[in-house]
Amino acid sequence: MTADRARKQAARKLKAVTGEPYNSARRRTQHPKLTAICDTCSAPVADGDGILWIPKADLARAEPALQAFKQQQTQRFVALSDYPELARWRVDHHACADLDGAAYAIELHRCRNWPNLINWTAHLMGKAWLSSTDWHRLLKDAVNAAGHRLNPTHHLAIPELTITCGTCHQPVRDREGALWVESSTLYNARTGQQEFERKRMANESVSIWDYPDSAEWRVDHYACTDFEHSYYTVDVHRCRTWRSLADWTAHLMIKGWPDHTDWDTLLSATSENTGKRITPVTKPRLTP
Ligand SMILES: [Zn+2]
Ligand SMILES: [Zn+2]
Repeated sequence: MTADRARKQAARKLKAVTGEPYNSARRRTQHPKLTAICDTCSAPVADGDGILWIPKADLARAEPALQAFKQQQTQRFVALSDYPELARWRVDHHACADLDGAAYAIELHRCRNWPNLINWTAHLMGKAWLSSTDWHRLLKDAVNAAGHRLNPTHHLAIPELTITCGTCHQPVRDREGALWVESSTLYNARTGQQEFERKRMANESVSIWDYPDSAEWRVDHYACTDFEHSYYTVDVHRCRTWRSLADWTAHLMIKGWPDHTDWDTLLSATSENTGKRITPVTKPRLTP
């Protein structure tokens, strides 16, 4: 289905559901906005009126606590109930935000639709401190319309993403293939990175060149791949929309996998037409 036909179909569906004029429905099918709810006053936040932010003081508390927990985890059994509290991302009106100290802030209009939010996720995955925040919960809550922070206005049941086989370079239709990562590669990347961290913490000399490669996510038709080894797969029909991609991202973040795989690269490439792995049916215009 071409992008244009997909949009027309989605617009007709939306018109039928909401009763709004076709043209306005069509405009909205492009990349439906997310609504933002202020954490302080619980009112919606209009574009230009607020931020998604995290106080640096909260990061400064959460980061060492998580590091210490992970350190202990490598040495002895630690209860998951001892998992340190993560720093929480907040949504606030400019007027409501209690910006006392330094903060990491994103203007809300820059993360107001799924492609933008995915793009920010990929960008933030490059920051070592992201795992000490609750970004995965922010994504999950947005996916599930939890009613606070970010929420989808409606869900379009049209495919927004094209998935291409890395072997035969043809599109992969639903249930014909998967995104996958080999278990042993993932294991090697994780243990290699842990060993690197251990040496660094022990002040042994380490070169940045010794940092192990991340495990690569591959995309293939089931028929094109020789699944000889153990691997982890995500069927392509479960990542056809930006929203489901955000859902998977949150899921993988809970497992800590994006740290050991190239999921961030895969995500950031979804807003470009690289022709590889996951690409958009219609190229999103990202808010700079
Ligand atoms: Zn407010
Ligand atoms: Zn193939």
